[in-house]
Amino acid sequence: MQIQTIAAETVFAPIPWTKVALEDGFIICKESGFSRVEDLTELTPPLENPHFWKEVRQLYFAFEQKDWQKIRLFYQTNGPLGLENPRAPDGTILDNHPPNRERISTCKRFLNWFRILTLMVKWAKTRNTAPLWDLFGPPRKSKDILTLSILFAEEWPWPAIWYTPSLDINWDTPINRDELAWISPQNDEQLIRAAWMAVVGAVTEMLRFTPLLPMTVSEDPFVITWGFQCNGAFFAAFLQWFFQEIAYINVSTCQADGCNNLVIPPRDKYCSDRCKERMKKRRYRQRKKGDLKWPDG
Ligand SMILES: [Zn+2]
Repeated sequence: MQIQTIAAETVFAPIPWTKVALEDGFIICKESGFSRVEDLTELTPPLENPHFWKEVRQLYFAFEQKDWQKIRLFYQTNGPLGLENPRAPDGTILDNHPPNRERISTCKRFLNWFRILTLMVKWAKTRNTAPLWDLFGPPRKSKDILTLSILFAEEWPWPAIWYTPSLDINWDTPINRDELAWISPQNDEQLIRAAWMAVVGAVTEMLRFTPLLPMTVSEDPFVITWGFQCNGAFFAAFLQWFFQEIAYINVSTCQADGCNNLVIPPRDKYCSDRCKERMKKRRYRQRKKGDLKWPDG
């Protein structure tokens, strides 16, 4: 059985930080919420903007350039990133500090992680191997797995991007334990595969922070919709990107007769070349049949 649609949505109700201060390496909330009730209803949820994740990715450069004006405006519109007390995937609190503030260096690090991750997907999809080679380094061997596997890690072990290199083994000769070494991608194919595996690993770990909760229950018909609860703009952007670029939802199904496979962008009508060709042949045959019936037009 194939699951055709996922009845889940990304839920993000930002609470703007209307007054923010920048002190001692922190972005501090001095006042939050909506000043007028109307603002609540007039508010356009950021996720209705399909490019929200790109705005969040760009925010990295505002941190990089210390563009506090831009950062302040972002917090006033979208609330905090959700990195008040960042945790590692195993649940360990990475940074314990008073509430209602986000550490600037933490924000910058998570945003850079997101920037690199989203770029890796873009490069892998377009087979743009040059920047991927820059990231992975030239083909090489090492006895130390960490020197090969870590692609991104700043300061703390999390967030990180890494892959598992292969063992350099020649099965035709006896294995000499002393000579065993790890090997990085050796060609474009291996590089793109390693990039995808690194993306999957990083995405899996970040998804742990987004609980899936029942959102609405309607009685007739009885339907429960589920929502991924995003705690902050960073996680909202991450999930929006995830569903746009990694796990496609709300995509159409194949228009070929008898096929219900999902049509993954950039394809728009048929799920595969096989279905496309099949329907092309069918149309051709139908035209031919038509020609035989009315030979004189
Ligand atoms: Zn198909």
